[in-house]
Amino acid sequence: METIKHIDDTYVAKTYKRFPVEIVSGEGSVCYGSDGKRYIDMGSGIGVTAFGIADPVWQRAVTEQLSKVQHMSNLYYTAPCAYLAKSLCEKTGMKRVFFSNSGAEANECAIKVARKYAYDKKGITDPVIVTLQNSFHGRTHTTLAATGQAHFHELFQPLTPGFTYLAAGDTEGLTKLCEDSRIAAILIECVQGEGGVNKLSEDFVRAIASVCAEKDILLMVDEVQTGNGRTGTLYAYEQYGISPDVVSTAKGLGGGLPIGATLLSDKVKDTLAFGEHGSTFGGNPVAAAGALSIVERLTPDFLDGVRRKGEHIRARLVGQSGIRSVSGLGLMVGIETEKPVGEVLAFCMEKGVLCLSAKTKLRLLPALNIPDEILDEALDVILEAVRV
Ligand SMILES: *Cc1c(COP(=O)(O)O)cnc(C)c1O
Repeated sequence: METIKHIDDTYVAKTYKRFPVEIVSGEGSVCYGSDGKRYIDMGSGIGVTAFGIADPVWQRAVTEQLSKVQHMSNLYYTAPCAYLAKSLCEKTGMKRVFFSNSGAEANECAIKVARKYAYDKKGITDPVIVTLQNSFHGRTHTTLAATGQAHFHELFQPLTPGFTYLAAGDTEGLTKLCEDSRIAAILIECVQGEGGVNKLSEDFVRAIASVCAEKDILLMVDEVQTGNGRTGTLYAYEQYGISPDVVSTAKGLGGGLPIGATLLSDKVKDTLAFGEHGSTFGGNPVAAAGALSIVERLTPDFLDGVRRKGEHIRARLVGQSGIRSVSGLGLMVGIETEKPVGEVLAFCMEKGVLCLSAKTKLRLLPALNIPDEILDEALDVILEAVRV
């Protein structure tokens, strides 16, 4: 570990503050450090390893594809990409999918669709996309501009123009903003993940959907973190009864390999034409085969289990010592603690539980299939960590 830490600290760009732990292996919701210490994984690589570490079903799908062909350019057809797109469309009612490699890229595609649609449909040459204050949409330069948090912007000016930020819940401001004919799209996270696991209210989301429908503004939902079963439905927007025009997703979709997807509704399915977007690795057959094995297991029965586990977590945490509030949806959980979150994270890690933070909150994104007894073991530690 000392050597790996030293080499990494010396040679890897210093953009991440790492905990002094090297993870070498794992199985499901448990992983092991290089010193043999056992950890319960309550973060899933930030909502990525949807079915846990080294999940055997995903592993089989990936290795079977690996032994056939690991990559072809998008000049040719490969089966996993086609089947994954079909499965996503059949499960959501969306009509086409653009594949990329990350959440930021999935949002980049959404932004390009919004701009092109505004031009094609209304001749708008200076379109504006509305995002929410406190949102997070990625680290590429344009998704940074989409992210409604000033501190991400400060050092990287000038940013891509064409974004404006609305406070979550500000229905009046929404109406006023949308009087501007340049508004091309509204991009939201149903539950703001990085922003502190804040769930948008149903009234506000419905108000957004209604102004979008009225003014032919695209309703775009960033489901990078909330998607793929995380909140107890395949996508979180389903719980709001809305029909987005564009849905971006990534993280849990790949089960551990990089993939991004931008789902396009009938209205925008052909907005981007030949040559207008692309990605060398997009739709990579290995990543897509793994993703297909994830999506196919997100059945209604399985999703009931996700919701039940989410309710169990809330039942155990709400009202307990040191806990001010619990937010989120399904297995996306934010915990406002009386102790500073850094202290709580350190205690949990010491006791063998890996958790996340989001702003000042403790954040839990366990594997969707975390066994109940392992979940309870982790919750025991968390309750001890936050107790005052
Ligand atoms: C993580 C995240 C992103 C960025 O995804 P990357 O794969 O890191 O590019 C975008 N939007 C949301 C809501 C996210 O949680």
